[in-house]
Formats: sequence, C-alpha cells, structure tokens
Amino acid sequence: MSVTKRLIRAPAVIAIGANLGDRRATMLAATRELADTDGVELTAISSVIETPALKPSGVDHDAPAYLNAVALITTTLTPDALLAVLNGIERAHGRVRAERWGDRTLDLDIVDFAGIVSTSPRLTLPHPRAFERDFVLVPWLEVDPDAVLPGRGRVAELVAGLNGAP
Ligand code: ATP
Ligand code: CA
Ligand code: CA
Ligand code: CA
Repeated sequence: MSVTKRLIRAPAVIAIGANLGDRRATMLAATRELADTDGVELTAISSVIETPALKPSGVDHDAPAYLNAVALITTTLTPDALLAVLNGIERAHGRVRAERWGDRTLDLDIVDFAGIVSTSPRLTLPHPRAFERDFVLVPWLEVDPDAVLPGRGRVAELVAGLNGAP
C-alpha cells in the first residue's frame, strides 16, 4: 500500500483502549485529535465500556481495567498513513511499548479499513483478533448494527456467538 494520498473516501473502524492514567480524558482527547486530522472525518463514536485487562496468560484482574470504545471514520488517507496518524496520537498521550499487551495510556487499532484484507505484520487487516474480542465487537455493533467483519461475517452474529451457550 502506498503512502500517497488518495481522493477516495474510505470507511474505517478504529478501536480505542486505555488502562493507565485518566482513561476517559485521554480517549476523549484522542477522539478529538483523530476528528481534527486532515483527511479524517469522525462519523460515530460508541459508548465507553470497561473490561478487565487481557494478558498473554489470560484475563488479569490485578492489572488496571480498560476502557474501550469504537470510532467510525471516513478517510482519504491510505491505511498506512492512517496507522501513522494513530501511532502519533498514541505517542502524544505517552504510549510506551514494553511487553506484549502491557498496560498503556492509549491504544488505537484499525479494526477494519474498507473491507481491505492485508496480512502484513505492520498492518494486518482486518485486525486479526477483533473477531474474538467483545470489547471491540460490542461497541462496534452499537454504532453500526449492520457491521460486517471481513472474512468473519456479521458482527451481530459474532457477538451472539461469543456470549451464547457453547
Ligand atoms: P493487539 O494487536 O493484539 O490488539 P496491541 O494493540 O497491544 O495488540 P501494539 O503493541 O499496539 O499491539 O502494536 C503492535 C504492532 O501491531 C504495531 O507496531 C502495528 O504496526 C501492528 N499492527 C498490525 N495490524 C494492526 C492494526 N490493524 N491496527 C493497529 N496496529 C496494527
Ligand atoms: Ca478532520
Ligand atoms: Ca490493541
Ligand atoms: Ca495497538
């Protein structure tokens, strides 16, 4: 994917998470900064939900809990350029990358970008773990009841599957 700007306006889904500091204030500021970015238009923001921290070893009730939300945008940026914008906003809010799934002031992930499929480790689309994450799917469903996760199907059905009887 090139980093040149395109004139095509693409829809994208952004997952916002925070578990350190003033989580809500950080998420609000980050959402505003995203909306203020040239080439990005914010079209919806979900309610904020709280979930326990997830570590490679499983749910960690000793770590600070996360607030999570989902933003819908349209953008003329490329996926790579959008990721660079998100990383810049994370850095501006003191994000440090230490251990995998470590505590953080802000995490901004691209869940879906116009249905594009990419297997690059630098930018995998759709986000490879979104399908199994209630904290992504539930707020996404709230702002888009017809949402579809490319390759996985309707988000409404994924949410029902995660919560339904085995
Ligand atoms: P997870 O990806 O499981 O949610 P994480 O958000 O904690 O974990 P990070 O440390 O924030 O992971 O990011 C690791 C790398 O993932 C980043 O350097 C980024 O390039 C890459 N990446 C791949 N696909 C995506 C995507 N869809 N959205 C954001 N980052 C991505
Ligand atoms: Ca804008
Ligand atoms: Ca993440
Ligand atoms: Ca991330």
